[in-house]
Amino acid sequence: MSEQTSDENARKSRWWQWFSGSAEADADEPGVEPQISRELTAREVWLPAKRRMISKIADFLIDHDLEVLPMTLTVAYECVTGGAPRLAQLILERTEKGLPITLSWIEEQRGESTYDKNGEALAVLMSRLEDSLDEFSKTTSGARTATSEYSSALKQHVDELEGVGRAGVVITELAALTRAMMERSIAIENELACSERRAEVLQSSLEETRRMAEMDHLTGLPNRRAFDHMLDREMREAREAGETLCVAFVDIDHFKRVNDTHGHPAGDRVLKFVGETLNRIADARCFVARHGGEEFAVIWRNHTVEKAWKKLDAAREDIADRRLINRANDTPFGKITFSGGIADVFAYPEKSAALKAADEALYLAKQSGRNRILKAGEDPGPLVKAA
Ligand code: GH3
Ligand code: MG
Ligand code: MG
Repeated sequence: MSEQTSDENARKSRWWQWFSGSAEADADEPGVEPQISRELTAREVWLPAKRRMISKIADFLIDHDLEVLPMTLTVAYECVTGGAPRLAQLILERTEKGLPITLSWIEEQRGESTYDKNGEALAVLMSRLEDSLDEFSKTTSGARTATSEYSSALKQHVDELEGVGRAGVVITELAALTRAMMERSIAIENELACSERRAEVLQSSLEETRRMAEMDHLTGLPNRRAFDHMLDREMREAREAGETLCVAFVDIDHFKRVNDTHGHPAGDRVLKFVGETLNRIADARCFVARHGGEEFAVIWRNHTVEKAWKKLDAAREDIADRRLINRANDTPFGKITFSGGIADVFAYPEKSAALKAADEALYLAKQSGRNRILKAGEDPGPLVKAA
């Protein structure tokens, strides 16, 4: 073996050890160098790396006792490859606390991070596009008006030129030139009108996209982003009009059991049903949104807390009184109930304090037996021990 070839093999050998993860094992046995006597094929190079990756994914699923599902495989892949550093960190923290990594917990984390990342990026892009379109429409409309005025002026000149009795060659040529300019500027005017129409179409598609981005696709209700916007708007307008404003959070009771017993698709149908029933209280002064997961949020303009409470409690009773059946297999879902907490927004110095008060009231409603709506600050009575 030549000196050069032996150096090259030694280099390959070190790289191979690193790549195939055998460097540490070999380091324990000084002097033992694997002999590489031929060129490595691409397959031989990548296969061990693939094996290591698959075994790490398998370890992840086994360690966290997760089923092999497309979603868990994706999560495992992302965590193992560093594609989801935030989720990997949350998993680590949860594991350190001795808490289980469940499917529903992963879904919640993934749902929120997707909402945050994609939603925010989309909102920024759309508002940039809207600004550009607005600017374009203004410019186009200004240019079209100017062109139209210019063609009218040209038309007047050409008429005057052609009307000159002693139209010599120069005047005839000038008139023809002016007419050509006039025709060109009319063509530009038409093109600009066409661009304006296209911009209008684009603007209305953008409005539609914005509407879709603010809608929850499962229930058809406004989503959390829309709720945030609505609350800001309603706070502004209610303040100006000197009206009251109430906000409520609603959370389906023991919803995890519905999923666990009947499966996720059936859980989705229950969510849809609760959303529809809740939305029946919506009107010009009341908005219902899906705040995320199995939580909803309601805003009332010009309602006292008492009046808002009555409406929400009627919806609670309506749902609690029904006996829903899983139509996939005709098994009863049992009693579906929700709990809620309501707060008077202007009784607090800031929006966040009002939302926190409603959330705390919801928490106390859960703690005191569920299937009830509490007003912020209301005494919940005796608390029920967790099952
Ligand atoms: P509690 O009465 O304390 O609110 O108990 P819970 O079981 O309702 O609350 P928990 O937070 O433990 O579970 C909520 C479940 O809601 C877990 C999650 O998988 C499920 N969930 C969230 N979003 C959806 C969804 O879009 N569809 C379905 N089917 N389930 C969802
Ligand atoms: Mg919840
Ligand atoms: Mg719940």
